[in-house]
Formats: sequence, structure tokens, C-alpha cells
Amino acid sequence: MNSSTPEYRRNATPFLYGQEDKAVARVLEAGQYGHTEVTEEFEQKVAAFLGVPDAVAVTSGTAALHTALLAAGIGPGHEVIVPSLTFCATIQAVLACGAAPRFIEVSPGTLCIEPDAAVEAITPATRAVMPVLFGGRAIDLSSIRSTLDEQDIAVIEDAAHAFGSYNGPVRVGGTGDLTCFSFGPVKNLTCGQGGMVIPRTPEEAATIRRLRLLGVVASQAERQAATSYRVEGFGLRYQLSSINAAIGLAQLPRFKTTEIKRQELWRAYRAALHRAKGITLVDVDVDRTVPHLCVVRVADREAVFRRMLAARIAVGVHYPPNHLQPAFAQWWRSLPVTEQIGEEILSLPFHQHMTEDDVYHVAAALKLATGSGR
Ligand SMILES: *Cc1c(COP(=O)(O)O)cnc(C)c1O
Repeated sequence: MNSSTPEYRRNATPFLYGQEDKAVARVLEAGQYGHTEVTEEFEQKVAAFLGVPDAVAVTSGTAALHTALLAAGIGPGHEVIVPSLTFCATIQAVLACGAAPRFIEVSPGTLCIEPDAAVEAITPATRAVMPVLFGGRAIDLSSIRSTLDEQDIAVIEDAAHAFGSYNGPVRVGGTGDLTCFSFGPVKNLTCGQGGMVIPRTPEEAATIRRLRLLGVVASQAERQAATSYRVEGFGLRYQLSSINAAIGLAQLPRFKTTEIKRQELWRAYRAALHRAKGITLVDVDVDRTVPHLCVVRVADREAVFRRMLAARIAVGVHYPPNHLQPAFAQWWRSLPVTEQIGEEILSLPFHQHMTEDDVYHVAAALKLATGSGR
């Protein structure tokens, strides 16, 4: 596609502010590509941004979920309550620990789990609830907190969509729960690839740091100075490269721009689709959220999808329900609400390269495609 192609015809691509290439070049020239002070500076800057004592950088959001689950003691024989309506990475992280997903419904209005549905799904094997902050929207589980605490059930937030969003007065990640972010290519903040865990305690932070470094406990300086190193436990190759960390570090000071732009685009969609017959906008709680997606529910989604593609508009579906995926068939449960939602959801083009005019064009095309336009 040439540069005059309207942005609503493009899928989301990473949004760069223009400083990232220089930051990467500095790392390449320095010649240290592994976990370095650059990675540690990124951790400290993210922690400061969120107002938390510590943050642990890993290779991806999936790695963040995996290490957070392990640090919370999740393993074989345990169940983790998860929405079926999420990216398959959420489920794969649970399986990577040897645990089993227990799929639950989401609310059609928000595509997020409801506290009651989580409590109803508790079994003697339940050790964690993993809410997915769909579209960036925070989830309030305070009404069931004591029930979860009594049964020693951890809350591990899949906040892959929600970097920068608020949960009450604090940013997501600052609520005291174990929280996982993704800095993948099209997430609210990108490292190219990357992820971050917000640990609950210094011990948990140390566990995740050991897990991400093949079970080795030693600073880089210590390893360079010593003739040996100590492998103290199970571990994986999950440390965030300084090349990727440099991208995130360059993005972070400019995040306010992202916050404002994403909220403006989402509000433009809301205004443009206000009262459009047959089109229901999924609410992201925009005043407190840095929106990651713009999802509508429509009848006859397959036809609308085809008409939008024919109009050369880059629509998508987030997500096909996981309890219907062949790989997860063993954990299937009847989830009629999610199955219905799975047939109705349509993600509209939503990324920072778009203008408000792009939004109005998409909205007009959607009204035509659904028959609610003139
Ligand atoms: C992106 C995403 C992940 C995984 O993050 P990666 O960085 O791609 O590994 C997990 N859960 C959800 C809901 C996501 O959107």
C-alpha cells in the first residue's frame, strides 16, 4: 500500500514517536544486547510511572503471565479461572504451568468477567483467577476479595490491553494484585516484543527474576567476575533484551500522547455510532481507560465483516472463544453467552495512525454494512 492509503484500510502497526531508532542504535553500538542496565532502567521507569515499588521485565506478555502464575505457586492439579473470550496466550500460559483453565462467561456490555461468575466457578482445585482487562478496561473484584483470600485464591491480572488505564485512583498494576503487561508490537506501549510483571512482594520479584534467567541467581557483573554461576531452580530464557527495552524506554516519556489520542479516537467512534440501530459499542469506560480496541456487536457479523472488507476497511475479531478451540477442547464447558458474543463481535480499525476523519469514514461504512445507514 502506498502512503496515501487511508489508515482505516490498514491493520494496526506499531506507533513510534521518532526517538526509538536512536535509542536502539545506541544499544547496538554499545554491544550489550542481553539483560543490561538499559533493561533495569526500563523496569525502574515503568515502576515509577505506575507508582509501584518494583517491576520485572520479560520477553513477552505471555512470558509475564507464565512467570506470574509460577511465582504464585500454580502448577499441576490446579485450576485457573479465566474468561473464554481472550487471546489464546492467556490459556497457553496456564497450560505451560501444567494447570487447567476453567473457562467462564464475560458480560456482553464490557467483555470482562463479572465477580459472581468467578465465584460460581470456584472448585477445590482453584488457585487463581485471571481476569482479562478487555480493551484496557479495569476490573473491580473487591466485592469477592475476602472470598478469594479465605480460599487462598490469587488474582493475576492479564493487563496486556491495559497499560496506562486506571483502576479507581491508581493505574492498573498499582492495586496490589499480581499484574501482567504486554509490550508487543501493537499494544498501548511497545518494546517490539516485551512484557512486564508487577510483583506483590520482594520475594515474588526475586522468584520471577530467577525464573526469567534460567534459574541463575547473580547480577551480570557478578557473572562476569566469577568463574562459575549458581543455578538455584527451574528457569526459562525470558529476560528482556536491552534492544527491546530501549524501544520501551523511548516510548514511555511520550505516553501521555498515546493516552489522549486513544481516548479521542474511541470517543469519536462513540459519537459517530451513537444511536446507530443494530450496532452496540462495547464500553471501555473511556474516562479511566487507555483504550486498546474498539469493538462493536452486530447481528449477522459474518456478512458485516465481508462487507467491511469489501469496502477495504481493516476489521477483525477479538477473539474466537477459547473453549471452542481444538487445543482446549478438554476444558470445554457450555458458555452460551460467550458463544453468542463470539458470533457478534467485530473489532474496528483502532490505532494511533488514524485520524478522526478515518473514524467517521469507518463508522459511516459500518452503518451501511449493517443496514442502519441511510
Ligand atoms: C497480547 C496479549 C497477550 C500476550 O502478550 P504477548 O506480548 O503477545 O505475548 C496476552 N493476553 C492478551 C489479552 C493479549 O492481548
